[in-house]
Order: sequence, then structure tokens, then C-alpha cells
Amino acid sequence: MLRALMAQLPDKESSFFEWYNEVLEVANVTDKRYPVKGVNVWTPFGFKAVSLMDRLIREKVIPLGYQEVCFPTLIPESELNKEAEHIKGFGEEVYWVTHGGRTELDIKLALRPTSETAMYPIFALWVRSHRDLPLQVFQIVNTFRYETKSTRPLIRVREIHFFEGHTVQLGDAEAESQARADLASFREIAKVLCLPYVMDRRPDWDKFPGAFYSIACDLPVGGNRTLQIGTVHHYSQNFAKPYGISYEDKDGARLVPSQTTYGISERLLGGTIAIHGDQKGLVWPSFVAPTQVVIIPIPGENDPAPLIARAEEVRAELLRTPLRVEIDATEGRPGAKYYAWEMKGVPLRIEIGRRELEEGTLSAVNRLGGRTKLAKGDTAAQVQAALAAYDVALTERARKSFATNVNIARDGPGVVAEKANLVGWCGEQTCAQEVEKRWGLSVLGRLEEAPEALSLGPAPPACIVCSKSGGAWSLAAKAL
Ligand SMILES: [Zn+2]
Repeated sequence: MLRALMAQLPDKESSFFEWYNEVLEVANVTDKRYPVKGVNVWTPFGFKAVSLMDRLIREKVIPLGYQEVCFPTLIPESELNKEAEHIKGFGEEVYWVTHGGRTELDIKLALRPTSETAMYPIFALWVRSHRDLPLQVFQIVNTFRYETKSTRPLIRVREIHFFEGHTVQLGDAEAESQARADLASFREIAKVLCLPYVMDRRPDWDKFPGAFYSIACDLPVGGNRTLQIGTVHHYSQNFAKPYGISYEDKDGARLVPSQTTYGISERLLGGTIAIHGDQKGLVWPSFVAPTQVVIIPIPGENDPAPLIARAEEVRAELLRTPLRVEIDATEGRPGAKYYAWEMKGVPLRIEIGRRELEEGTLSAVNRLGGRTKLAKGDTAAQVQAALAAYDVALTERARKSFATNVNIARDGPGVVAEKANLVGWCGEQTCAQEVEKRWGLSVLGRLEEAPEALSLGPAPPACIVCSKSGGAWSLAAKAL
């Protein structure tokens, strides 16, 4: 029975997408049966995980000076049209509200695809003097994009759960510092989620519509696929000018500020599932695990009451800390319970049998199979330590598969088309097009830093297409 259940998940290695869709379904992260394509219902379990992701983001950005706001979902067409490149970039993906009741609206209203065009007319009113800067706000809201490519839960959706940070800065240098601070906070977020990633600067033809530059974090998710899980954009004055944002400096001169944005969506959670999940189901890093610890009494042939009482006692102790804990005292074989909780990705299982009861100890097994004995004494501290050790082991496992999935190609013949590749690239679009033609891979951008899980050596190699030196290590892969 158990084996039959476990055989349900398709092989992650060879059938990644089938595995991904199935694991979301079986573990009940989202319900895809809603009758609009590309939108998902978050279940209580899934929404807990995404709320924990939001909590992590808030914890990392609020100390940078960001304050939380909430702007309207509806944006007048006239505001959307002010930045030409921006509307060109989103034009095909915008949902329009054309009627209020039966009345046709004078000015069509867009459902925000992102909020530059909602916020910046108001920023023009808020920003008056250099004393109003920097202005740093963020919101976590749903945004809407009519995706024409095939949709996939948490990875490509039409209603997106979206964190967007927006700042207004005195000038380009201050905006540059903000972008660096945002990227540093993203590194911390990825670290908590045990995710190795590639941070790269998008080529000009692929940057965010209207941006001066865009830096993205790409997550290799197996094969030659990568998932963009976070972006930071420097806008310089590209939005401030058309939206009429200006300030008076100390000497009374009127200046145009510089701007940045920072975006993270539910894809970060999708990527976390994609990277850590395995044939047994989800594997959550401890921070975002909806349940971090499950306590399972194992009575065998004995009276379950004292074991359940002990489990309640342990839970009460753990709940005095911020740990998220459940007891599974349902009837049924322990093996079936282990299977169910493993599918849900619970990081730590505590087993209480007769022996544990007699000794006053607890047996703990983490989601990667690591087993420890918790001694009498401060159980909460030991559980926290076990979770910390589990996160370290999870990071290590993810780094190993990162090193396997990402091929370091020092020349053309070294490229492996079935993998994500780090290659030398001169920066020319013609060479990027040639990479696409020869290997079917997109040059996603020049690395901002060497990924921690790999050693690249001091100097980037010559361009894999034109052999010119002086280029940069760059990521060539298929963006999901
Ligand atoms: Zn080249």
C-alpha cells in the first residue's frame, strides 16, 4: 500500500513538469480547478507558506527603510501610456476594465500589471523637497498579466502574488546604492530558503521595459531550465521625467530624481518547491514550512493515552517558542503517517514510543532522513538546533545539485545544451543570437558575482562564439 502511494509521483529528474504539477496537487498547495485559466486558489496550507515567504521579505526589506503601502488595483489608461517603452513591454498582457456596470467608461482602466504607473503620479505629489528623499515603499498585492505562454501554478500565472518595492532617490548614485542594498537583502532571503542562484545583469534587449538596467536572480531548476525568482531595476530618470517627479535641492534648484524597483513573486515559492522537493514530496526550508514539527506517538500494542499526554506536553513546550507544531495522534500505521507528513514537507518529525517515554527522551527524524535523539531538558532549544542543522544539510544538498545542473563551459565545445551553462560572452547581441541558434539557449545576462556553489577561476574565458576576450562570465539557459 505504502509503496503504491509513493510510486505516485512522476520521476523528478526525467519528468520535471509532471512531477511539479503532481506534487503541488498531492500536497494540496493550490487548487487549480478554478474556472479561469492561469489563476489559482491558495489552500490554507499553500497560503500559509506564501504568507511566511511574505514575512521573510518584510523582515529583510523593512530594515532597509522601506515602508508598506497599498495602491489601487485600477490604473487609468492615460497614466499607463505615459512611459512609452513600459506600455510597449506590457501592452499585450494588460487586462482592461471597460465598463462600470452597463456604462462604458470614458477612460479605460487597467488591472495593474505592476504598479509604476499607479504610484508615480502620486509620488509626484509626495516628493517636493530633497528632505522627502529617499522615498522607499513596498506593497504585496496581486498583479495581473495576460500570459500567452502556457501557464503553470506559481511559475507562470495570470494573477500574480507580488512583492514590489519602489524607491525615489536624489540621484543615480543613490539609486545605485539602493539597488545594491536590495540585492544584498535578496541574497539573505535566498540563504534562508537554502537556494543557490545565479545573479546576472540582463542584456539591454531583455531588461525590464523602461529600465536603465535590470539585475535578476535565476534559479537553475534542472535540465537547461532556469526560473527568474527576483529582480532589481535601476530606472535612473526614465520614469521620473514622464511622471513629473521632481524635488527642490538645498539651493532651491529643481531636480529630477532617480528611481529603483525590487520585485519578488510567488515564483520564489515555486522555485523553492522545485529545488528542494523530491520523490517523497515537498521539502520546505524551515522558515517557510507551514508546519515545522510534527509529533507522532507510536503506541504499538500499548495504551496510547500516556504517549499522547507526553506528546501534548512536548507540543506545549515547543509552542512557547515561535515554532509551528502539530500532533498526529490519529489511528493508523506510523509508516502511512510518515509518508503523509513527508509529502507535506514537514522538516522535523518527533517520534514518541514506549522507550522514549521511559527514558524521557525523544527521537527526531528530519525530512532528509537525518536522525537525532533529543535528550531530557530544553526540548525547544534542541528542536531549534535540529532545524538549523537541517537547513544547513538542505543547502548542501541544493548546492550539490546546482553544481551538477550548471555546466561551466570554457569554450564552445564545452557547452552542454541539456544544462544551464556559464560561458564567456563578449556582450554582443549577434553572439547571443548565435548561442540561441547553435545550442538553443538564451544568454540571460552577465554574472554580477560568481555563484557560491561553483569555482569559476579568476578571469572569464573568451566569448564562446567570436573568441574575443575581455567579456564576462554569462548565463546561457532556457528561462521558464
Ligand atoms: Zn562574441
